[in-house]
Amino acid sequence: MKLCYFIGMPNLTKINPDSSTQISLTFDDGKEFKVPYLDLRFECPCATCVDEMTGKRTLRRDTLNPNVKPLRIEPVGRYGIAIAWSDGHSTGMYHFDRLYEIGQSLKN
Ligand SMILES: [Zn+2]
Repeated sequence: MKLCYFIGMPNLTKINPDSSTQISLTFDDGKEFKVPYLDLRFECPCATCVDEMTGKRTLRRDTLNPNVKPLRIEPVGRYGIAIAWSDGHSTGMYHFDRLYEIGQSLKN
């Protein structure tokens, strides 16, 4: 029998909104992802953007301002960040493991 166990989620070590269009996220395994703000905004996991019952995204990408930017980025505990966006949306809390997933999905 094979045992699978959780070896710990990636830890975000550096957040750098280094351009007007994308953010750079560095993790403790050395990976660095450049994530466009629009993609990050679209991936907002809050109850307004995702239906809690079905897990389906209710936010439509074409309703977003393509020039959306973070105004404030704040740490949430040791596992996530909260982002206040220029479009007034600030209820989204991004877990490090979700940010890592988003970064990886954009790399390909
Ligand atoms: Zn949201």
